[in-house]
Amino acid sequence: MSAAIAMERLEPAPERPPADVGLPLRVATIRRVVPETPDTSTYWLTLADPAERARFRFEPGQFDMLTVPGVGESAISISSDPAHPERLAHTVRAVGRVTRALGALGSGDRIGLRGPFGRPWPMAEAEGGDLLIVAGGLGLAPVRPAIFRAMRARDRYRRVVVLIGARGPEHLLFGGEFDGWGQWMRDRELEVALSVDVPTDDWPYGVGVVTTLFDGARIEPQRTTALVCGPEIMMCFAAHDLVVRGMSPDRIHVCIERNMQCGVRLCGHCQLGPLFVCSDGPVFPFGEVVDHLEAGR
Ligand SMILES: Cc1cc2nc3c(=O)[nH]c(=O)nc-3n(C[C@H](O)[C@H](O)[C@H](O)COP(=O)(O)OP(=O)(O)OC[C@H]3O[C@@H](n4cnc5c(N)ncnc54)[C@H](O)[C@@H]3O)c2cc1C
Repeated sequence: MSAAIAMERLEPAPERPPADVGLPLRVATIRRVVPETPDTSTYWLTLADPAERARFRFEPGQFDMLTVPGVGESAISISSDPAHPERLAHTVRAVGRVTRALGALGSGDRIGLRGPFGRPWPMAEAEGGDLLIVAGGLGLAPVRPAIFRAMRARDRYRRVVVLIGARGPEHLLFGGEFDGWGQWMRDRELEVALSVDVPTDDWPYGVGVVTTLFDGARIEPQRTTALVCGPEIMMCFAAHDLVVRGMSPDRIHVCIERNMQCGVRLCGHCQLGPLFVCSDGPVFPFGEVVDHLEAGR
């Protein structure tokens, strides 16, 4: 038996073909860097090629692979408004090689961008019912495009409730624009509530983990779709709490992060049991992943 035939027999055909393999590495220019918290900044990018810029579209919840030349590549969610894909924001916490190298770059510098990748938030599926968005810490970045989408198509949802938690007021993302953005949300009849673990003396909103906001949110489990994003342990607690309140695990969606390398279902670094976070996710119905999440065990 030839080696090729042996390999063919050993390796089952993939359930679905690798996604987005053809997506090229594009050049993006950093237009502006907005510091959010002591370790997190938002990078506003435009694709350098005008034709690619005009073609680029993304869905809320999708991510790009950003390359710092000579350093490497990291998966980063798109945090801006999908109605304006010509201006792309990525909100990045400096934790390792690539994200720290990004921190040394500024306006006018160029980086690489592949994307957009991944399964987005189920915005269409949620239409007609209530939308509950629960974000903890950096988790506000991947749900922010969903908030923009819901604001722009407000009549497609009944209630839109946005619950945001952070360690302290200084850790709230988009704080500089929050008064404006918060007001914009309220003007469009989004119900917004904030909570922090450690308040300052003049903090006017809630105190405690984000799930303490659930009681005041008047959740109607049968008609609600939840988008939950934050540290894995927070997503597990929030999702379990929503299940206890009567929500089906399949109507609760979480955004999972795993070490990602190729982004196209080839390398296996991001596998979560049988699932590939890069292309089956990063957004999953909680019911699909609950058995594979460490914090859920
Ligand atoms: C779908 C998806 C979306 C994401 N969206 C965002 C986003 O919007 N914003 C964001 O900031 N991040 C996001 N991430 C996470 C980001 O991709 C990771 O933090 C990525 O690893 C950062 O790359 P890096 O090279 O800077 O860090 P790495 O060098 O890969 O380090 C990552 C982590 O591993 C630790 N580490 C590194 N080397 C070692 C070592 N030798 N031993 C032990 N620990 C080590 C670091 O301390 C750090 O905590 C996302 C991830 C996924 C999968």
